[in-house]
Amino acid sequence: MCMSDRRVCECGRNAAFLLYGNNLLPPEILVSLYCPQCRNQVSWDPHTMLEDCGWVLEYDVEGAQVLLNQRGLTSRATPEFIFDKGYLTWQGLTPGDLELNRELHQRLAPLIEQDLALYLKSLKSEWLAHVGALKAAGWRKAQHT
Ligand SMILES: [Zn+2]
Repeated sequence: MCMSDRRVCECGRNAAFLLYGNNLLPPEILVSLYCPQCRNQVSWDPHTMLEDCGWVLEYDVEGAQVLLNQRGLTSRATPEFIFDKGYLTWQGLTPGDLELNRELHQRLAPLIEQDLALYLKSLKSEWLAHVGALKAAGWRKAQHT
């Protein structure tokens, strides 16, 4: 079971859907979330932050380290480790992927009744095109799909 939730960024103009892999880390470990419009408010610290296409996630890396150790994980906590292992990362491939995915399913839903094979085919091709676009744009999680 992985918990997920929606977090509004520091300026309040945007929000991200977040995933907490294995429920290992609580939401407080993400100290701040900056969208491309408010990322300039923060001075960059590579020891606690990870940037993904203009979004900045600021982690409580020390707090995460304690929790990792408590669970018997000896890996060194870094923003990259926390993000890439999925312990506190985007739900989906980008901050808004969950919503996009929902929209895609909704948009194609009428096809289910008409032509299920076409529905599945369209869903697959549109999703692959979407992932391809994200990959090209440089989104971190899309690089590994
Ligand atoms: Zn913002």
